[in-house]
Amino acid sequence: MQLTLAHLYGSHMNIYGDRGNIISLRQRCAWRGIELRVLPVDVGSTIDWAECDMAFFGGGQDSGQSLIADDFFQRQSEGLARAVEHGMVMLAICGGYQMLGHYFLTHTGEKLPGVGVLDVHTVGGKQRLIGNIVIESKLTQLGSTELPTANYQLPTDIRLVGFENHSGRTYHGPGVRSLGRVLVGHGDNGEDGVGGAVYRNTIGCYLHGSLLPKNPQLADHLIRTALQRRYGSSVSLAPLDNTLELQAQRVMVERLLA
Ligand code: GLN
Repeated sequence: MQLTLAHLYGSHMNIYGDRGNIISLRQRCAWRGIELRVLPVDVGSTIDWAECDMAFFGGGQDSGQSLIADDFFQRQSEGLARAVEHGMVMLAICGGYQMLGHYFLTHTGEKLPGVGVLDVHTVGGKQRLIGNIVIESKLTQLGSTELPTANYQLPTDIRLVGFENHSGRTYHGPGVRSLGRVLVGHGDNGEDGVGGAVYRNTIGCYLHGSLLPKNPQLADHLIRTALQRRYGSSVSLAPLDNTLELQAQRVMVERLLA
């Protein structure tokens, strides 16, 4: 089996090792005999979104976002929005997350257009929100579970660990659900305890880390969702030995909650 992943603006948007998310997806696929084909999408690229099973958009500096914003909006927004509506699996971190919303008003007053596939907007603040973060993902309890479009399901009660560093405060509209509740750290805006947004099979959040190597449950959930969308709901993922990953995750959660 093969999956195709679009990597958005990796040359401008890749901080705190966000590329590690792709390495993790690729390796966890390879261990199961699944090939993950990665298509880089940079300024000027064209891509057939219909052939993409997954997309990844990492974080970046405000200046990096400014460099890619117009290209992203003009060249990719239509195809990407269609793919998201059709259930493509997407993960966007920090600056990438901000670009999926309606807009990002930076702390210097520059208004960058977002593509609006997530019903969120972001406003830069003077103080950066920095530190380790733990999110408890209880999708059945947080946000609106009644959205007809919201078909995303993580196993409940996962404590996702990561690291955040952002000036942007992201505020949710009614069209997204929360990925989780912040147990440690600032989360989307440092005010309402919300950590990350979900719409269909698209997730945006502030967790660098890299996120997926630290949280293998989420990595496998993304792979499984993409596989079942492409090859049918009876496809299952062969289990892997996650002993070390889960131990590391547990240690961080315990240390940060102590
Ligand atoms: N430039 C954005 C901010 O500071 C995103 C930073 C990031 O991706 N870590 O809000």
